[in-house]
Amino acid sequence: MPSWGPPVLIDSHSHIDMRQFSKDRDAVMERAREAGLAAVLDVGCDIPSSEAAIALAERYVEVFAVVGFHPHSAAAMGNGDIGRIIELAQHPRVVAIGEIGLDFYRNLSPREAQVEAFNRQLDLARELDLPVVIHSRQATDEVFDILSRWAVGSSETLGVLHCFSGDLELARRYIDMGFFISIAGPITYGKSSAADVARHLPLDRLLIETDCPFLTPNPHRGKRNEPSYVSFVAEKIGELRGIPGEEVARCTAGNAIKLFRLPIQAEGETCR
Ligand SMILES: [Zn+2]
Repeated sequence: MPSWGPPVLIDSHSHIDMRQFSKDRDAVMERAREAGLAAVLDVGCDIPSSEAAIALAERYVEVFAVVGFHPHSAAAMGNGDIGRIIELAQHPRVVAIGEIGLDFYRNLSPREAQVEAFNRQLDLARELDLPVVIHSRQATDEVFDILSRWAVGSSETLGVLHCFSGDLELARRYIDMGFFISIAGPITYGKSSAADVARHLPLDRLLIETDCPFLTPNPHRGKRNEPSYVSFVAEKIGELRGIPGEEVARCTAGNAIKLFRLPIQAEGETCR
């Protein structure tokens, strides 16, 4: 694993609150520190995981929390839950609403419930002036339509399309709208549309993530993923662009600090 000295990396999307980390979370965070991570965002999927994300953000100085209802849990979202998200979002370590969106691949919640939960949380993010973390799976057109309507008239940085799997054309339309695009471990698996995106999108619109414990990058594919492995994503993007992985790391860290207004100092680098 490459080591880049002072903190230069940010894992913009993790689930270290999950039970897969319950036995060795301290060690996982220690390895993240050693790998040069300046921040790890822990993303909630419902109320308990959002609360857990905040608890981790209180425990580890590098962790920041994202709170909200994943489309899988959309059907379980009641009126009281929106109130609870608003409460949780007041916490100083909460930096975004997410992960929200549509998942028409697994359809674990009915589509109408997903659309409703998505729209309500987008409205909420706007009210709270927080960026959004978007999950989109086999719902490309629907997510794009909803986000384009939502983004109208906004000049602010809006959020990020997490674990982006669309093509370069779609990625460009999202960055024109004001979104960032986040690249995860599958970029290391070989030929994918994400490779085109990682190669050609302006570096100042890219974030990197692990989505751990899922989507483990090579060379660790098949094992549990963890935040320190985000360095492999940076290395791969660097390889595709013909620049040092460290430059990708620093630049995407700077982008994450900007988007999520993270109160941390990392060695910034001007993106080219
Ligand atoms: Zn996720």
